[in-house]
Amino acid sequence: MEKIINDIAHRIIAGGSITEAEAIKLTQVQGTEVYDLFRAATRVKEHFVGNEVHLCSIINAKSGRCAENCAFCAQSAHHKTDAPVYPLVREEEMLASARMAETNGSACFGIITSGTTVNGPELEQILTALRRIRKETTILPSCSLGIIDEETARKLKEAGMDTYHHNLETAASFFPQICTTHDYQDDVNTVRAVKKAGVKVCCGGIFGLGESAPQRVEMALTLKDLDVDSVPMNFLNPIEGTRLEGAANISAQECLKTIAIYRLILPGKRITVCGGREKNLRDLQSWIFFAGANGTMIGNYLTTLGRNVDTDLTMFSDLGLKTVMCAH
Ligand code: SF4
Repeated sequence: MEKIINDIAHRIIAGGSITEAEAIKLTQVQGTEVYDLFRAATRVKEHFVGNEVHLCSIINAKSGRCAENCAFCAQSAHHKTDAPVYPLVREEEMLASARMAETNGSACFGIITSGTTVNGPELEQILTALRRIRKETTILPSCSLGIIDEETARKLKEAGMDTYHHNLETAASFFPQICTTHDYQDDVNTVRAVKKAGVKVCCGGIFGLGESAPQRVEMALTLKDLDVDSVPMNFLNPIEGTRLEGAANISAQECLKTIAIYRLILPGKRITVCGGREKNLRDLQSWIFFAGANGTMIGNYLTTLGRNVDTDLTMFSDLGLKTVMCAH
């Protein structure tokens, strides 16, 4: 297996690509072969994107009461959870969070809202906040506002949005088990509309929902087809009251293998490990960079707390990794 893994890495570095069958085969590596896979992912990462870590932070600008029924989500109105419920925060609050992200060394800052989409006065408020963030900070703001069309993407871009974030969540073949209130195609169309508006796209998903290993590969290939700019990888942190509250966690090694295979499928993309890092990787959190990730989220997540920022900054420095401002 070591030779097969090395040959795949050489081929990718030479400009070729990994096939779907090869990627699925790599999901089955076990024992010490796992380290061969990580070494290959590291080589590919260093060749295509170097050895820097990109940091991003988010604000949950509107929480809860979402009409969608995503099985993992604490903010779905279909679930009874302890997640906070509040309307869109004032623009001063978004600005203050952007300033805090800037202080923490993170130049990429996401304004995230729960719900199917935003429009009307809420959209206007976000446009105003974006203009102020661009004027008053060095932060490059991104937004995650649900399903949007090209016109909305253009408005957000004109107000200063650098990147639009919209996850596919999982593979098309598994999506109906996770969400039935909208179609997978609505998410794909959003990504296409945003790209058409000339905005960079951050698009990934969440692992450990019960999807199979080949379905993880399937989503990576969809992301490759869509040619998204960066790929956030979340790992399920089961929340009490959601449909997946009792889901068995994906193992730490499965998380790392999935990151490594994503690096081989998406060699030149930014791969950012986001929610569920602490819960699923525990002592192995620093291994995400050996497995091929070149970014991570710092600070808190949408409805769960992240690790102390200073602890993360010490981890980057202990690993000798240079942290860089996000410039998608
Ligand atoms: S993941 Fe997004 S769309 Fe799905 S329920 Fe949660 S807030 Fe709503």
